[in-house]
Amino acid sequence: MGHGGGRRWAHVGGSGDEHDKPSGRVPRRHLVRDIARLFKPHRWGVTVIGLLVMFTAGLGVVNPIMIKVVFDTALFRCSGCAPDLPRLYVLAGVMIAIPMITGAIGIGQTYLTNRVGQRVMEDLRNRLYAHLQGMSLRFFTGTRTGEIQSRLTNDVGGIQSVVTDTATSLLSNVVTLLSTVIAMTVISWQLTVLSLAITPLFVWYTYRAGAVRRKVTAQAQQSKAEMSAITEETLSVSGILLSKVFGRRREELKRFREENHRLADLAIRQEMVGRTLFAVIGTFFSGMPALVYLVAGLVVSYDVTHGITAGITAGTIVAFTTLQSRLFFPIGSMLQVSVEVQGSLALFERIFEYLQMPHDIVDAPDAQRLDPAAVRGDVRLDRVSFRYDRNAFGEIEPAPLAVSGADGADGEAPRAWAIDDVTLEVRPGQLAAIVGPSGAGKTTISYLIPRLYDVTSGTVLIDGNDVRDVAVDSISDVVAMVTQETYLFHASVRRNLLYAKPDATQAELEAAARAAFIHDRIVELESGYDTLVGERGYRMSGGEKQRLAIARVVLKAPRVLILDEATSALDTTSERLVQAALQPLMRGRTTIAIAHRLSTILAADVIFVIDRGRLVEQGTHAELVERSGLYAQLYEQQFHGGRIEAECEDGVVLSTGEVIHAPAETVA
Ligand code: ADP
Repeated sequence: MGHGGGRRWAHVGGSGDEHDKPSGRVPRRHLVRDIARLFKPHRWGVTVIGLLVMFTAGLGVVNPIMIKVVFDTALFRCSGCAPDLPRLYVLAGVMIAIPMITGAIGIGQTYLTNRVGQRVMEDLRNRLYAHLQGMSLRFFTGTRTGEIQSRLTNDVGGIQSVVTDTATSLLSNVVTLLSTVIAMTVISWQLTVLSLAITPLFVWYTYRAGAVRRKVTAQAQQSKAEMSAITEETLSVSGILLSKVFGRRREELKRFREENHRLADLAIRQEMVGRTLFAVIGTFFSGMPALVYLVAGLVVSYDVTHGITAGITAGTIVAFTTLQSRLFFPIGSMLQVSVEVQGSLALFERIFEYLQMPHDIVDAPDAQRLDPAAVRGDVRLDRVSFRYDRNAFGEIEPAPLAVSGADGADGEAPRAWAIDDVTLEVRPGQLAAIVGPSGAGKTTISYLIPRLYDVTSGTVLIDGNDVRDVAVDSISDVVAMVTQETYLFHASVRRNLLYAKPDATQAELEAAARAAFIHDRIVELESGYDTLVGERGYRMSGGEKQRLAIARVVLKAPRVLILDEATSALDTTSERLVQAALQPLMRGRTTIAIAHRLSTILAADVIFVIDRGRLVEQGTHAELVERSGLYAQLYEQQFHGGRIEAECEDGVVLSTGEVIHAPAETVA
C-alpha cells in the first residue's frame, strides 16, 4: 500500500524535485501576524527588552557628543589657554561610566532575549509535535518521516537566531541610527546630508539581497529535509537491511553525497548573499572621515577667506566623524538583519505550513465517549465506500489511484474506490474472517473501523454509534489492532508492554505475557522484563515480537480486536506459539481477522470475501465451499483444499503446523 493517495502531502513535504519552488501557501500578511502571535504570551518580556534596548542605544550617542564637549570646553577651551582640569575629571568620569552601565544592562538584556527566544521555540516545537500527533494516517503515509523530523528540529532550530538576536538588534540599530543621525544633524546638518546621501542605494540593494536569501534558505531547508529523509530511510534497521541485501551501498552513498554537496553549496550561497553589499558599505564608511575633513577644510577656508567666524571647530569634526563611524555598524547590521529576516521567513513558512494543515479526523462538536465497560462490540459497516485519493482538504486528487496486486497483474483498469459499497455486520463476540486476494481492500476495512480514515460515504458503526460521532480517543479504548508488522519501541520489554496499559502491575504484565506464551522467553533474557528489545524489536525473533504485541493487546483487553494475521513465515514452534497465543485473545470479544490461516478461517463464525473493494460473498466455510464461488476458488488455490494451513512469503505452513520453506520460484 501507500500509492498515490498522499500526493498532496508529498507536495507539502517538498519531494526532491520541487527544490526550487517555495510553497507560498501561507500569505505574507498572515505570516507576520502569526509570527507576532508567537510572542504574545511573552509580551512583558518583550516590552522590557525593548525598553532596555532603547535605553542602551540612546546612551550610546552620549559619548561621541561628550567628545565635542571635552574638546571644546575642557581640553582646548581657547587657543593658548590651559585645560580646565576639574571639568575634565568629571567629563572623563562620565565617559568611563557610560560604557560600564551599557555593558551591565547588556548582560541582563541578553539573558531576557534568550529566555523569550527559547520559550518561543519550545512553544513552537510543542505545538508542532502536538499538531503532527493529531494528523491522520493519511498524512503519514504521504510524508517522509525524515522530512517531518527535519521541520521539527532544523526549521524550528533555524529561527533561533532570528528570535533571540535579530529582533533586538533591529530595534537597537533603529534607535542607534536615529539617535546618531539626530546628534549628527545637531552638530552639522550639512555634513549629515553628505554622509547619508548614498543610503537609498543600500536599501534597494538590501531588499534584493533579502529576496534571494529567502529563496536560498527555503532551498537549503528543503535540502536539509531531504538529507534527513535519506538518513532516516537508509540508516534505519529496515533501510540498511534493504541496502545491504540489494548491494546498494554505492548508490546510497552517491545519493547522500550529491544532496550533501547541494546543501553545502546552498549554505555558501546563503552566507554570501548580501556580503558584497556589506563590503561596499564598509569601504564607504572607512573613506567617509577623509571626505568630511576635506569638506570641513573647504568650508573653513571659505569662511576664513570671507572673514566669517568659523562654525566648525576641531571638536565638531572629531565628534562628527566618531558619530559617523557609529552609523556603519547599525546600517550594516540592519541591512544584514533584514536579509536574514527574509531567510527566516522561509523557515516560519515551512513551520506554519505544517501547523496550519487541518486535522481531518477530529471529534464532532457533540462527540460522546464510548464507554469501554458498556460496549458490547457490535461492528457494522453500512454501505461504506472509501477512496484514498482524497486529500485532507476533501479534494479528489486528479490522477487515478495506483493499484497493486491482482489488479495490476491481470491488466484491469485501475479502480478509484478502495472500498465500494460494503455492508457487513459482526455481532458481539463473533469471530469474523476477512479473506480475499491481495489488494482487495481487507486492510483498508480494518483501518476504517477504528476511524484511522474516514469513510468517503456510508457509515461505520460500533454498537450502533457512528464512529464519527464518538470521541476519537475513546475508540482506541474499545478497538485494538494487532498489525502484521509488529512495532516495538527501542525500550525495555516492560515499557513496551506498559504502552498498552500504563498502570498495569507486574502481576498483570506477567499474566498477559503468559497468555501470549512469551513470559518464559522474557525471563530467559539477560535482564528479564527490563531487557531492551532493540530498535523496532530487531533483537527479537519474528514470533517473539508477534507474541509481545499480542501480550500488549491482552493487557489492553479491548472489546473489539482487529487482527491482521502475519503472512511471514515462522518456524514451527513459533508458529504454534503465536497461534496458541491468539486463540484465547479472540475468545470473548468481537474479532475481525484479516485471515491468512486456515485455522482462523475455519474457526470463524462468519467469513467475508472481499474482491476489488466489494463484498462478494459471506457465510461460514461450509456454506461458501458449497457455493463454489471466489471463496471456493481461493480455498483450493491458497489452502489446497485444506492440506495447507497458510501460505507465507517463502513457503507454506502445512495443516500439521509444519513449515516448508520452498525456493522462491516454486511457490505459486
Ligand atoms: P489488502 O489488504 O486486501 O491487500 P488494501 O486494503 O491494502 O488491500 O488495499 C486496497 C487498495 O487500496 C489497493 O488497491 C491498494 O493499492 C490501495 N491502497 C492501500 N493503501 C493506500 C494508500 N495509503 N494510498 C493509496 N492507495 C492505497
